[in-house]
Amino acid sequence: MEFRSGQVSLSDLEGPRTLDELRAGMAECRECGLAAGRTYVVFGEGNPRARLMLIGEGPGAEEDRLGRPFVGPAGQLLDKILAAAGITRPEVYIANVVKCRPPGNRVPTREEAAACLPWLRKQFSLIAPPLVVILGSTALKNLIDPQASITAWRGQWIVRGRTRLMPTYHPAALLRDPSKKRDVWRDFQLVRDAYREIVPLGKE
Ligand code: SF4
Repeated sequence: MEFRSGQVSLSDLEGPRTLDELRAGMAECRECGLAAGRTYVVFGEGNPRARLMLIGEGPGAEEDRLGRPFVGPAGQLLDKILAAAGITRPEVYIANVVKCRPPGNRVPTREEAAACLPWLRKQFSLIAPPLVVILGSTALKNLIDPQASITAWRGQWIVRGRTRLMPTYHPAALLRDPSKKRDVWRDFQLVRDAYREIVPLGKE
């Protein structure tokens, strides 16, 4: 799958052949202003051979403090949604559009997202998941179409090459507006069904 192009040349990123090599390169990244306020670069985590990847917006306070993605309240809700779909977190891979925390949890700017996108693109190519869940508006706009509305696009598969992507609301949006939970559960049922076609129960 080809994500929208970022501002950073990929030439520096063509070397890493494993996620660990990529992580080592990313740890020193200062390609955008978010580097100044971070505690950790939140690389992402999960199964390096995951058949399902989830992509969110960026680290929050807890993620920045621990250097892990989706470990705050929104992450705990995401864990519950995955569990309800019969999918365990160690099976999947979770990452964000930007790897450093935007101050005050603001939305990353287009420039920050564009600077970070080559890292995600390389991460995606190393994992090569056939299924992706796009968590929220920021990920949708930066990965697919800057004009896209998450409300209009959620719940429908987007096909890019060999990859199917399902946009849905970010779990943080569910914490602000629980009425969105019903839509997200519908979306995750579609994801669950597609995932089980690829990874039958008991073959995780
Ligand atoms: S957000 Fe991404 S591009 Fe910006 S400094 Fe962090 S790792 Fe580098």
